[in-house]
Amino acid sequence: MAIRQVRTIGDEILRKECKPVKEVTPRIRELIADMFETMYDTNGVGLAASQVGVLKQIVVIDVDDGNQYVLINPTILETEGSQTGYEGCLSVPGKTGIVTRPNWVKVRAYDEEMQPFELEGEELLARAVCHECDHLKGGLYVDLVEGELEDTDSLEDDEEE
Ligand code: ZN
Repeated sequence: MAIRQVRTIGDEILRKECKPVKEVTPRIRELIADMFETMYDTNGVGLAASQVGVLKQIVVIDVDDGNQYVLINPTILETEGSQTGYEGCLSVPGKTGIVTRPNWVKVRAYDEEMQPFELEGEELLARAVCHECDHLKGGLYVDLVEGELEDTDSLEDDEEE
């Protein structure tokens, strides 16, 4: 495993659409392992493959609920409610901003064996799923921020996605 370089805002790869994964090869397994290591190294709760420069539809999430979620080719099926709160991104270091997201999501994705599954999540997990799925389409939370981006120095919350 290795820590990969996280691309930051301004890098055009973050604005490109990721392609679906057809097969989980050893290289993709290695990528997923590296994505977790990179995410933990930077205290993130989620990471999309495009953030480490790979344009594939792969997301890893760990919101400290005891699970390590790997979502391959995810599609959000349903959303419910809304939550408004601070959000950050490893690709936008040192910044945070207020974003409104669904409070509950149901997503369909494939696991590392390319078996389909559905995941339901609320609150932080719902926020992370939406944030990471946006990355796969070239979206960044800064596109959705209500008001101005703020410096994280001014806030206690250091969780970033
Ligand atoms: Zn992000």
